[in-house]
Amino acid sequence: MNKEGITVCPYCGEPMIYTFAFSGSEYYCLICGYDCGLFGGKIVEATKELKYKKKLYEKIFTVVNKDLIPVGAYNPKCKKCKDMKETHLEHATEKELLKDKIAREFLKNISIGVKEDE
Ligand SMILES: [Zn+2]
Ligand SMILES: [Zn+2]
Repeated sequence: MNKEGITVCPYCGEPMIYTFAFSGSEYYCLICGYDCGLFGGKIVEATKELKYKKKLYEKIFTVVNKDLIPVGAYNPKCKKCKDMKETHLEHATEKELLKDKIAREFLKNISIGVKEDE
Protein backbone atom coordinates (compact mmCIF):
# COMPACT_ATOMS: atom_id res chain seq x y z
CA MET A 1 0.00 0.00 0.00
CA ASN A 2 1.27 3.42 -0.90
CA LYS A 3 1.15 5.58 2.20
CA GLU A 4 0.82 9.33 1.92
CA GLY A 5 3.78 11.29 3.24
CA ILE A 6 3.94 14.64 4.96
CA THR A 7 6.98 16.86 5.56
CA VAL A 8 7.60 17.57 9.23
CA CYS A 9 10.22 19.55 11.11
CA PRO A 10 13.27 17.46 12.06
CA TYR A 11 13.45 19.30 15.41
CA CYS A 12 9.92 19.43 16.77
CA GLY A 13 8.04 17.01 14.47
CA GLU A 14 5.38 19.55 13.49
CA PRO A 15 4.23 19.83 9.85
CA MET A 16 6.25 22.36 7.86
CA ILE A 17 4.95 25.10 5.57
CA TYR A 18 6.01 25.44 1.95
CA THR A 19 6.94 29.07 1.26
CA PHE A 20 9.13 31.42 -0.76
CA ALA A 21 9.41 33.94 2.05
CA PHE A 22 12.86 32.78 3.19
CA SER A 23 16.01 32.83 1.12
CA GLY A 24 17.16 29.34 0.16
CA SER A 25 14.58 27.69 2.39
CA GLU A 26 11.40 26.32 0.91
CA TYR A 27 10.20 24.84 4.19
CA TYR A 28 9.40 26.71 7.37
CA CYS A 29 8.33 25.44 10.78
CA LEU A 30 5.84 27.79 12.41
CA ILE A 31 6.29 26.16 15.80
CA CYS A 32 10.05 26.33 16.35
CA GLY A 33 11.10 28.71 13.55
CA TYR A 34 13.36 26.22 11.81
CA ASP A 35 13.68 26.67 8.06
CA CYS A 36 15.32 24.44 5.50
CA GLY A 37 15.56 23.61 1.81
CA LEU A 38 13.45 21.10 -0.08
CA PHE A 39 15.30 18.09 1.32
CA GLY A 40 15.84 19.35 4.86
CA GLY A 41 12.49 18.25 6.21
CA LYS A 42 11.61 14.80 7.47
CA ILE A 43 8.96 12.85 5.60
CA VAL A 44 6.66 10.79 7.77
CA GLU A 45 3.32 9.06 7.30
CA ALA A 46 0.52 11.63 6.99
CA THR A 47 -1.78 10.93 9.91
CA LYS A 48 -5.12 12.71 10.28
CA GLU A 49 -3.71 14.74 13.16
CA LEU A 50 -0.68 15.88 11.15
CA LYS A 51 -2.84 16.78 8.14
CA TYR A 52 -5.15 18.86 10.32
CA LYS A 53 -2.21 20.59 11.98
CA LYS A 54 -0.71 21.38 8.58
CA LYS A 55 -3.98 22.99 7.45
CA LEU A 56 -4.17 25.05 10.62
CA TYR A 57 -0.55 26.23 10.37
CA GLU A 58 -1.04 27.10 6.71
CA LYS A 59 -4.11 29.19 7.56
CA ILE A 60 -2.15 31.11 10.20
CA PHE A 61 0.83 31.50 7.90
CA THR A 62 -1.33 32.78 5.01
CA VAL A 63 -2.34 35.78 7.12
CA VAL A 64 1.26 36.62 8.07
CA ASN A 65 2.52 35.80 4.58
CA LYS A 66 0.55 38.72 3.12
CA ASP A 67 3.02 41.08 4.79
CA LEU A 68 6.15 39.10 3.94
CA ILE A 69 8.13 40.08 0.86
CA PRO A 70 9.31 36.86 -0.80
CA VAL A 71 13.08 36.74 -1.28
CA GLY A 72 14.19 36.80 -4.91
CA ALA A 73 10.66 37.04 -6.28
CA TYR A 74 8.58 39.37 -8.42
CA ASN A 75 5.22 40.76 -7.43
CA PRO A 76 2.71 40.14 -10.25
CA LYS A 77 0.69 43.18 -9.15
CA CYS A 78 3.68 45.55 -9.26
CA LYS A 79 4.54 47.67 -12.31
CA LYS A 80 8.24 47.90 -11.43
CA CYS A 81 8.47 44.10 -11.29
CA LYS A 82 7.10 43.69 -14.83
CA ASP A 83 10.42 43.97 -16.69
CA MET A 84 12.01 41.53 -14.19
CA LYS A 85 15.15 43.66 -13.86
CA GLU A 86 14.99 43.68 -10.11
CA THR A 87 13.07 41.64 -7.55
CA HIS A 88 10.31 43.31 -5.60
CA LEU A 89 12.44 43.44 -2.45
CA GLU A 90 14.90 45.77 -4.24
CA HIS A 91 12.30 48.50 -4.79
CA ALA A 92 9.86 47.79 -1.96
CA THR A 93 8.42 50.87 -0.28
CA GLU A 94 9.28 51.86 3.29
CA LYS A 95 5.81 50.79 4.37
CA GLU A 96 6.20 47.37 2.76
CA LEU A 97 9.63 46.87 4.33
CA LEU A 98 8.28 47.80 7.74
CA LYS A 99 5.38 45.37 7.37
CA ASP A 100 7.81 42.65 6.28
CA LYS A 101 10.06 43.36 9.27
CA ILE A 102 7.16 43.25 11.72
CA ALA A 103 5.79 40.04 10.18
CA ARG A 104 9.21 38.35 10.47
CA GLU A 105 9.59 39.52 14.07
CA PHE A 106 6.11 38.19 14.82
CA LEU A 107 7.02 34.77 13.39
CA LYS A 108 10.12 34.72 15.55
CA ASN A 109 8.17 35.70 18.64
CA ILE A 110 5.47 33.06 18.27
CA SER A 111 7.97 30.25 17.69
CA ILE A 112 9.42 28.33 20.63
CA GLY A 113 12.86 28.40 19.01
CA VAL A 114 15.00 25.55 17.67
CA LYS A 115 16.50 23.48 20.45
CA GLU A 116 20.25 23.51 19.90
CA ASP A 117 21.19 20.83 22.38
CA GLU A 118 22.43 18.39 19.75
ZN1 LIG B 1 9.98 22.79 14.27
ZN1 LIG C 1 7.89 45.22 -7.52
